Amino acid sequence: MDFISIDGSYLEGGGQILRTSLSLSALLQKPVRISRIRAGRSNPGLQLQHLTAVKAAAEICDAAVKGASLGSQEVHFSPSQVKGGDYDFDIGSAGSTTLVLQTILPPLLFASADSRVKITGGTSNPFAPSGFFMQKAFAPALAKFGGRVSVDVKRWGWFPQGAGVLESTIKPVESLKPIAPEATNPHPKIRGHSIVSNLPLEIAERMKAKALRELADMGQSDAKIELLNAPSIGIGAELFLLAESNGLANGFSALGEKSKPAHKVAGEAVHALKVFLEAGTTLEEHLADQLLLYAALAKGESSFTVSRVDRHLITNAWVLRQFLPECEIELRGNEGEKGEVKVSGTGFTRLPE
Ligand code: ATP
Repeated sequence: MDFISIDGSYLEGGGQILRTSLSLSALLQKPVRISRIRAGRSNPGLQLQHLTAVKAAAEICDAAVKGASLGSQEVHFSPSQVKGGDYDFDIGSAGSTTLVLQTILPPLLFASADSRVKITGGTSNPFAPSGFFMQKAFAPALAKFGGRVSVDVKRWGWFPQGAGVLESTIKPVESLKPIAPEATNPHPKIRGHSIVSNLPLEIAERMKAKALRELADMGQSDAKIELLNAPSIGIGAELFLLAESNGLANGFSALGEKSKPAHKVAGEAVHALKVFLEAGTTLEEHLADQLLLYAALAKGESSFTVSRVDRHLITNAWVLRQFLPECEIELRGNEGEKGEVKVSGTGFTRLPE
């Protein structure tokens, strides 16, 4: 079979092009050749997180792979049948476990048996969904498409030690239904977690107090935030906020780092939530780019608005069009501004064994 050729440096040019390509290749059983992987980054090619994603994708569908090595800028991936089952992947660094899970979820969702996946690495990373984001925002949003996936953070993994544990169970579906969520209520239910590992709980208390004060100033005085002393071998702090409205939840997290004051962490998470509420859209930018693939597979038209058209969203739409040319994806709105997404999904159903 001919390979689909993907230029990994196109537009956003990051790891997401690789991951979406692997997901679609395994799911649709179409071989893919991804070149110039992360070519424009300061550390080009496959880093441990990306390499683990390649190996994980290969393991679940017995793929023949070329180029699966650290720093490699070209991967050839020829999938066979996807198999549900028990899987255990270890990134070997603080690389993001959620991004590895993101790669293998679409094919496992259409496998013929349930899967249980354990991934060891980072669970709270900058520029990636946190474990709680996957558990409390992504998985419930996927359920709106009919996807039956649960995500659980068993142990937190922070930079630089990693060694966090993310577990997920995936119950396969025959097909997915489209989503068309209503606009977010200006006063959603706001719930949060103020998380620390191996730091005084007082830091979590300060993040919580600052976030509640800022939320009250925004007129969101019913917000509730729990303190969490999270099990981990590393040290870290995170404030995670969830805004629930019309059956959908959007998540916002900010991470602590050495010398960054607790109030700054809290302020960042609240600011992200504020920007979203001011936009008045159904989805924030990250959930939007992560759900686009599922909208493309669903049977019928999905539509949603997004607080910011991010380059990840535009890039993911491009990758989807390379694999599913029959899928119509309409993105309205300029990059960096709020926008609207309409997708005529292909109605993908499990391929015959
Ligand atoms: P690279 O280092 O090449 O940029 P990467 O593999 O680390 O690549 P990206 O390609 O940038 O990552 O993809 C990041 C993914 O993480 C996207 O799906 C994006 O939506 C998601 N993401 C980033 N920040 C957040 C956040 N704060 N909350 C939720 N999801 C996030």
